[in-house]
Amino acid sequence: MGLTAGSTGLNAVDREKPKEEPGGRAVALAGNPNVGKSTVFNALTGMNQHTGNWPGKTVAVARGRIQLEGESCQLVDLPGTYSLMAHSAEEEVARDFICFSGAGAVVVVCDATCLERGLGLALQTQEITPRMAVCINLMDEAAKKGIELDLALLEKRLGAPVTGASARQGRGLDALMDRVAGVLGDGGPEPEPVRYPPAVEKALDLLLPAVAPALKGKLSPRWVCLRLLEGDPVLMGTLEGFLGGDIRREAQVALALEQAGALLRREGFDRDTLEDAVAKALMQRAEEVCRGAVTCRDEGAAEHSRRLDRILTGKWTGIPVMLLLLAVVFWLTITGANYPSQLLTAAFAWIEGRLAEFFVWIQAPEWLSGALVEGVWRVLAWVVAVMLPPMAIFFPLFTLLEDFGYLPRVAFNLDHCFRRADACGKQALTMAMGFGCNAAGVAGCRIIDSPRERLIAILTNNFVPCNGRFPTLIAILTMFFTAGAVGVWASVAPALLLTAVILLGVAMTFWMSRLLSRTVLRGVPSSFTLELPPYRRPQIGKVLVRSVLDRTLFVLGRAAAVAAPAGLVIWIMANTRVGGETLLALCAAFLDPFARWLGMDGVILLAFILGFPANEIVVPIIIMAYLSAGSLAELESLAQLRELLKANGWTWLTAVCTLLFSLLHWPCSTTCLTIRKETGSAGWTAAAFLLPTAVGMTVCFLLTLTARLLGLG
Ligand code: GDP
Repeated sequence: MGLTAGSTGLNAVDREKPKEEPGGRAVALAGNPNVGKSTVFNALTGMNQHTGNWPGKTVAVARGRIQLEGESCQLVDLPGTYSLMAHSAEEEVARDFICFSGAGAVVVVCDATCLERGLGLALQTQEITPRMAVCINLMDEAAKKGIELDLALLEKRLGAPVTGASARQGRGLDALMDRVAGVLGDGGPEPEPVRYPPAVEKALDLLLPAVAPALKGKLSPRWVCLRLLEGDPVLMGTLEGFLGGDIRREAQVALALEQAGALLRREGFDRDTLEDAVAKALMQRAEEVCRGAVTCRDEGAAEHSRRLDRILTGKWTGIPVMLLLLAVVFWLTITGANYPSQLLTAAFAWIEGRLAEFFVWIQAPEWLSGALVEGVWRVLAWVVAVMLPPMAIFFPLFTLLEDFGYLPRVAFNLDHCFRRADACGKQALTMAMGFGCNAAGVAGCRIIDSPRERLIAILTNNFVPCNGRFPTLIAILTMFFTAGAVGVWASVAPALLLTAVILLGVAMTFWMSRLLSRTVLRGVPSSFTLELPPYRRPQIGKVLVRSVLDRTLFVLGRAAAVAAPAGLVIWIMANTRVGGETLLALCAAFLDPFARWLGMDGVILLAFILGFPANEIVVPIIIMAYLSAGSLAELESLAQLRELLKANGWTWLTAVCTLLFSLLHWPCSTTCLTIRKETGSAGWTAAAFLLPTAVGMTVCFLLTLTARLLGLG
C-alpha cells in the first residue's frame, strides 16, 4: 500500500480514544458491529446515537450517563469489533479502553441469532477483566427464527452474568443494569480460562511466575503473557506507557520470555501461527459454551432471507432492482414535495406581508426593512420552502431502507465496480450517505480501514449530489426537459431524469476513483468482508422521528444558519450601486466571459460561488440577479421561473451546463471543513475542492464547444 495513516494524516479514530473515568465508574459497551449496541446505549442513556442496520456505522466513541444503584456512571459505546486482537483502529480503541482505562465493568452485547461469534469477543474480554456481563440482545429476532437459548446454562459455562434483551423494545435492560451493578460491586467469580494448545500453555507456565509480580495486580497476567508471546509492537508500546516501563527489560521476565519463545519456535509456532492458534481456541471454546444451550427449531426464516437476497443481490436482478428503488424514491420525493412546497411558499409570503407591515408600523428605515425582509427573510423562506418537503420525504425513505438492511446490499452490488476502480466496496455505503449530506458521507468514510481507500472515498464523495443540490437539479429538469410531459409522465419523467443524473455522478465516482488509484493514490485494493446483516422490519415510528429530528432538522438548521446571512450579503450586493450598476451585476459581468466558455453566464457562476456556504441558495441568487429588483422576487411557479430564465438568454445548453455544474463542482463549506478535519491536511482538502471543480469545468467546456461546433448551442 502506497500510504500510511501518518502520511495522509488520517487519524480520525485515534483522536477519539476514550478518556479515563476517575474512580473506575465507567461501564463500557463492547460487541460485534450491528448487534444493537447503540440501541442499548440509547435506551439506557436516553440519548440519540445513530443506529442502522449495517455493520460499521458507529465509528466514533459515544458517552452518556446512567444511574446504577443511585450512583451516576459513565456509559461508553465502543466501536463495534469482532475481536480484540487489534487488527484495525476500532479494535485498538476498544481493546485499549477495556484494558487501560480502568473501566469498572464491560458489557459485551451479543446477537442472539448468532451467539457464537459474539461469545468469541466475550471470551477475549473475560481474559482481560473478570468484571464482565453479557447482554444477549435481539432475543425477539431469535424467537422469530425459532432459536432458543438457555441463559442459565450459558451463564454457568461462561462464569459471568448473562441476560437476554430486546433493546429495541426496551426489554431486559433493567435486569442487565442489576447484573452490571453486581459486577461493579464484587467483580464476580474468576472465570475458567480458555485452554490453548499444550505448547502455548507450557510457554505461559514459564512466563506467568516472572510476569505476574511485575504487573502489581494492574492487569491480568495470563492476558499480558499471551500478548508478550505475540509481541505486537504497538501494544507493547501502550503497555510500557501504562506500566511506566518495559517489563521485558526486567531480568526475570526477559529470561522467561526467551525460554518461552524458544519453546514455541521448537514446536513450530511463529507470531502468525500463534495468533491463529489463539483465535481457534477461542472459537472452539465459544462453540463449547453454546453446545446444547442454543438450539434452532426452524430454518424457514433463513430461507426467506436467502430468497430475498437472491433478488436484491442477484447477478442479473441486483442492479436493476437498485435502480428501480432509486427511481421510486426520487419519484415519491419529487411528487410528494410539490404540494407542501406550494403551501409553505404561500405561508411564508403571507408572513412576509405581515413583517413588512410591522416595519412600516414601527417606522423602520427603508434599508432596514429591505435588508431584513427582502434579504434575510426571503432567502430563508425560499430555502425552507424548497428544501424541507423533499428532505422530510427523502430522509425517512432512505432511513427505512437503511433500517431494513438494504444499504449493505447496495455495497455488495457495487463492490465489483469499486474493485475494478481499485477502491473499496464499502465506499458504496459512504456514497449512499453522501446523498443525504456530503459532510456526513465524508465523516462516514471512517468505516474504510485502509487510509488510501478512505482518501479516495473522501475525495470522490462530492460526485453524488446531496440534498441541498436536489432542489436545483429537480427545478432545472422540470423546467427545461419535462415541461411538455402530461399526466403521470409529468411526475415520472423528472424522477427518471434525476436518476440518470445521479448515475452520471456515480459513474464519475468510479472513473475518478480509478484515476486516483492509478496515479497519486496507487495501491492494491484491500480485501474486506462485507457482512450482509439480516433483514429487519424497520420501526416506522422511530424512523420518522429519527430522520426528521436527526437529519432533516439538522441539515435544515445548517442551511438556514447559512441562508440568513447569505441573504443579507446578497441583498447588500444587489442594492449597492457602483457607477450606476449593482455590485451583483458588476461581479456577474466580470465572470461572464469565462462563464460563457462553460455554457453558462456570469450570474450563474456567481451564484455557484456565493452558494459555497450552502448549495441551496444557488437558485435564489440567480433569480435575484436576473430580476435586478434588488430583492428575491416571489415566483409562484416554475413556469414563471422558466420564462424569466429564457428572457435572460437560457437555452437547453445553459440548462444542461448548469445541471452538470451543480453535480460537478466544489463541495460546500461544511463538507470542506469536514474533509479538513478527517484528513488533517489542507493539501487533501484543496484536492477535494479542485477535483470535482476541474471535472465539472472540463465537462461543461467540452459540451459547449461541441454544441457550438455542431451549431446546436
Ligand atoms: P450497533 O452497530 O451494534 O450499534 O447496532 P444498532 O444499535 O445500530 O442496531 C442495529 C440494528 O438492529 C438496527 O436496525 C436496530 O434497530 C436493530 N435492533 C437493535 N436492537 C434490536 C432488538 O432488540 N430487536 C430487533 N428486532 N432489532 C434490534
